[in-house]
Amino acid sequence: MSVIAENLQRVQSRIQSACQAAGRDPASVRLLAVSKTFGADEVRQAHAAGQQAFGENYIQEGVDKIQALQDLDLEWHCIGPIQSNKTRLVAAHFDWVHSVDRLKTAERLSAQRPASMPPLQVCIQVNIDGGENKSGVLPDQALALAQAVAALPQLQLRGIMTIPEPHEDAALTRDVHAQAHALWLQLKSRGLDLDTLSMGMTADLEAAVQEGSTMVRVGTAIFGRR
Ligand SMILES: *Cc1c(COP(=O)(O)O)cnc(C)c1O
Repeated sequence: MSVIAENLQRVQSRIQSACQAAGRDPASVRLLAVSKTFGADEVRQAHAAGQQAFGENYIQEGVDKIQALQDLDLEWHCIGPIQSNKTRLVAAHFDWVHSVDRLKTAERLSAQRPASMPPLQVCIQVNIDGGENKSGVLPDQALALAQAVAALPQLQLRGIMTIPEPHEDAALTRDVHAQAHALWLQLKSRGLDLDTLSMGMTADLEAAVQEGSTMVRVGTAIFGRR
């Protein structure tokens, strides 16, 4: 078995144990394999081990891999910051985007999504803890943005994504997850049809699953250190 296949098994069993501890169905948490900085060969190995969904931060790098791997049936998620001059590439190549934090970006993606493709699946990135070096709409602006995005053609709003600031104290990270979950529930209670809470990475996936994550984005534990 390849190292990547072994790592994938280990991550799947971490997700399973976390679900067990939380009394959740393991099928309620999807694994997104974050392949940024790794090559098409590593993605092939992960696919051979059963992984279908892959996340990329850097758009041009992601598009290159998408094109190199067109013979495989993969699902590609854009999880990195999106500058205006990159929206066309995202709209034309990716299946999902987790990092929409401005209406302008969503409007461009909507206008540029080719009619021949299924709607682009969208999560709004929310900056729950106010970290200064990351993107994301502030929580009090999330509802307005979500409602505006949900109304755009060629986009399907699926949920929210968050990246907690790293903390020594795991309880602090878990508190950010809990706040994200509460916001997600609040948006749903306002009539938005959401099924995705994208949170949890290599270091914090257990806490994220405990607090209701439906999609964990894991890079290092699958592909190794970047
Ligand atoms: C890199 C990255 C990940 C994966 O992080 P790991 O710690 O390597 O698991 C997840 N989400 C986002 C947005 C990232 O940029």
